[in-house]
Amino acid sequence: ACISGAEIRERFLKFFEERGHKRLPSSSLIPEDPTVLLTIAGMLQFKPIFLGQASRQHARATTTQKCVRTNDLTNVGVTARHHSFFEMLGNFSFGDYFKAEACAYAWELSTRVLGLAPERVWVSVYEHDDEAFHLWRDKVGVPQERIQRLGEDDNFWASGPTGPCGPCSELYYDFHPERGHQGADLNDDTRFIEFYNLVFMESNRQQDGTLQPLAAKNIDTGLGLERMAQILQGVPNNYETDLLFPILNKAAKLAHMDYHKADERQKTALKVLADHTRACTYLASDGVLPSNVGRGYVLRRLIRRVVMTGRLIGIKGAFITKLADVAIELSPGCDPNVQASARRIKKELEAEESRFSATLESGEKRLNEVLAAAKNESRAVSGPEAFMLYDTFGFPLEITQELASLHDIQIDVEGFEEEMEVQRKRSKDSARTIDLNSGNLLGDLAAQFGATEFTGYTHIQGQGKIV
Ligand code: ATP
Ligand code: MG
Ligand code: MG
Ligand code: MG
Repeated sequence: ACISGAEIRERFLKFFEERGHKRLPSSSLIPEDPTVLLTIAGMLQFKPIFLGQASRQHARATTTQKCVRTNDLTNVGVTARHHSFFEMLGNFSFGDYFKAEACAYAWELSTRVLGLAPERVWVSVYEHDDEAFHLWRDKVGVPQERIQRLGEDDNFWASGPTGPCGPCSELYYDFHPERGHQGADLNDDTRFIEFYNLVFMESNRQQDGTLQPLAAKNIDTGLGLERMAQILQGVPNNYETDLLFPILNKAAKLAHMDYHKADERQKTALKVLADHTRACTYLASDGVLPSNVGRGYVLRRLIRRVVMTGRLIGIKGAFITKLADVAIELSPGCDPNVQASARRIKKELEAEESRFSATLESGEKRLNEVLAAAKNESRAVSGPEAFMLYDTFGFPLEITQELASLHDIQIDVEGFEEEMEVQRKRSKDSARTIDLNSGNLLGDLAAQFGATEFTGYTHIQGQGKIV
């Protein structure tokens, strides 16, 4: 009776196709733009068109885009709605339709095509965007109690200090309408979930900061497939949708667990396994190889976290390909190329898993000694100790933290960072830096998608900035 993730995806793409949008494939997780580490949104493949650097082939397009966001890694399994890898459905207008149509389409799609109860949908607009406010209220007919004005941080997109920019408008689903309108906070994730973001690219910011109207106004949108599935399938988080649950359930079986009977800690672990294995599968499929720099390092750390997490919940022996098999089985609707590369993907994941398992085995003894000493002396694990585990045995800080927290032991993170800094200085000459700031791309994407908060992934130890 319940709508599948595949059906949601198809309804979205078909809806926009029927309204003159060219259905285009997802671009690779490795962006063409050399200044960006990984594809984090559907707009990336169209960025040259939005910036006026390339001419458009179609006036309108629609895609389902594979995305990886390292800034959401610490949210994985913790919030109900964040993944490292997810699918972003999008509709785009290149100097064609604008605000009124974008709002009307988003509403019709959400309520009529996908069937959300209209009274459950709230919208946010940029605080100074009266036009959007009036469109929602007077043209679409959303009661003004369910339209909130948000500030620049939330609802204004800019492609850097100068250049194309404009206000956003987001759609939210209300899980608890009985709580009423008074004091409702769209950022309260016990009540609301953001599912669709519309960017109205209408201005060009000048050197002096003033906004000039853009000749060709653009629309850039993103709807999270897993989030829509969560809402429509009536499950409490993205992980219990048909898009992810089979991977999670496989992990639970390997750990001889029942997800629904597991405690919160175990549930989080199973979610991490499902999320990260899926991300690793797609990264490997797109040609990323585990390494110590850039996107290879993102993949390496994801695989390591899978291996560690599996051990923590008692999975014995090599297992990553068993989970990857399920991710591959689920892949065709998102990316038809994954199945064809199944053997190569699994070979790579397995090789890294086995390398890391060997490291772990040799480091485990040392780690236990460090933890025992800290416990005996009722102190935190020192910076140099944590760094030694990282540097000599390849234990990423968050893994040491995870293991230490099982024994209620703290880590001196500042001390660890200091050691890291010393090491960074030492290896500066040999370091290869991938600077995403060049070309202002970091500025833009951070402005659109929220600044990166997870510093553990923004710097590659001794290698410089990656995100
Ligand atoms: P949030 O505020 O919940 O972190 P966001 O504002 O960062 O989301 P956008 O950058 O607006 O998200 O991306 C467009 C859409 O993509 C979101 O409305 C959401 O549906 C989806 N999305 C964003 N980040 C994630 C993620 N980490 N996992 C799953 N879906 C996501
Ligand atoms: Mg948001
Ligand atoms: Mg948003
Ligand atoms: Mg976000």
